[in-house]
Amino acid sequence: MNPFALSGQVAIVTGANTGLGQAIAVALAQAGADIVAVGRSPMDKTQAKIAPFGRRFHAIKADLSTPEPCARIVEETCDQFGRCDILVNNAGIIRRADAIEFSEADWDAVIDTNLKVPFFLAQAAARQMLKQGRGKVVNIASLLSFQGGIRIPSYTASKSGLAGLTRLLACEWASKGINVNAIAPGYFVTNNTDALRADKERNAAILARIPAGHWGEPQEIGGAAVFLSSRASDYVHGIVLPVDGGWLAR
Ligand code: NAD
Repeated sequence: MNPFALSGQVAIVTGANTGLGQAIAVALAQAGADIVAVGRSPMDKTQAKIAPFGRRFHAIKADLSTPEPCARIVEETCDQFGRCDILVNNAGIIRRADAIEFSEADWDAVIDTNLKVPFFLAQAAARQMLKQGRGKVVNIASLLSFQGGIRIPSYTASKSGLAGLTRLLACEWASKGINVNAIAPGYFVTNNTDALRADKERNAAILARIPAGHWGEPQEIGGAAVFLSSRASDYVHGIVLPVDGGWLAR
């Protein structure tokens, strides 16, 4: 048996309409999983990219700025496909401003979307996974789970918190057959990094520090997501796996 195969598995991916979430949904489908794509935007492009792999696809419209839709998302997944094996907590936002003038609204919005909702969605999914006897939760963290950064105080707090939460949930659920891990993407070409890439100086400074010599392309995150969603990672619990072109090695 191919330990990386996801045939017969059902994966929820949040924020799957674009960027890393879309690339992860495509990679999981390519490995054999059926996909439930969750977010506030249309999922047509993701559905079209998944179609060639012949997997089932279902889109759920939900605003993930509050935990309100979390239970419904898991219920609808089970209504559609009968089970829930994989949850990828990918949806996230970033707000940039100097710490000295950072607003409470920008603090709350980022912490709620990047940290509070991933917890309550993991809780809802785990209630189903416990019934099934196994499951995989993959949180999308960041280099800011390890580093401080500048001008993104709530983002750094949320992603550092998400790394801690990943470890806590792993400790609680590892013995119950649920793996909880995270991926820390480096600098990838997505909407999230538009502002950085538009700033010539920051762009050049970032590129100069990446040993691989290029910004990550979204499809370069897929293999790590498949690994952490598959039987190949059954004894891997509570890690934050950097996929960063060597950034943290520098
Ligand atoms: P992106 O902005 O293209 O994607 C973010 C996704 O989250 C979109 O699908 C968006 O619709 C969704 N989303 C945001 N708020 C939402 C809400 N309230 N309800 C529903 N969906 C919502 O950026 P991306 O780079 O693809 O980001 C994906 C994840 O990767 C994020 O958690 C981000 O923090 C993380 N990340 C990205 C990078 C990078 O370099 N691009 C680096 C580290 C971490």
